[in-house]
Amino acid sequence: MKKSVEDYIRSIPDFPEPGIIFRDITSVLQDADGLQMAIDAMQAFINPEEVDVIAGTESRGFLFGAPIAYNLHKPFVLIRKKGKLPCATISKKYDLEYGTAEIEIHKDAIKPGQRVVIIDDLLATGGTLAACNALIEELGGVVAKNVFLIELAGLNGRKKLEGYDVKSVVCYE
Ligand code: 5GP
Repeated sequence: MKKSVEDYIRSIPDFPEPGIIFRDITSVLQDADGLQMAIDAMQAFINPEEVDVIAGTESRGFLFGAPIAYNLHKPFVLIRKKGKLPCATISKKYDLEYGTAEIEIHKDAIKPGQRVVIIDDLLATGGTLAACNALIEELGGVVAKNVFLIELAGLNGRKKLEGYDVKSVVCYE
């Protein structure tokens, strides 16, 4: 039977902490079919005529976001962990499923009115993408969509992202 992208996701119990099942996407990327299926399925949610910029979150959002931007011939913007971007930035602190973090974006990365799709590998609590959406809006951008390969529905990330157009390829309860 033909494989689906879900077949390439590896589930690792008790990583990085006891009780957490980590959904590993390296096993998707390591397979030529898995990689192509993942990019194609995420990209299928995006109408290029309704989008100006693709943004990706560090670090796994880069792996999926850049090929999608390339395929759609759109600019690609990096949302990075604090302290890594060399020019003027704005930043935001947020809570993770485990711990806290701070992300930032170059001030000149988004122009007012630009429609932005943000890409990440996985939606858990929604904290990361809520912070990303806030950064885009602070720069005057319009968040067109949040696109994920994987959604952990039990963590209610969609609730935190209420009002945004959230799409995921594979959903775990
Ligand atoms: P959130 O902010 O939605 O709680 O967490 C999502 C972020 O944590 C994403 O950037 C994602 O890369 C990372 N993350 C959390 N849990 C997992 C997991 O099980 N697998 C992977 N690949 N990433 C995870």
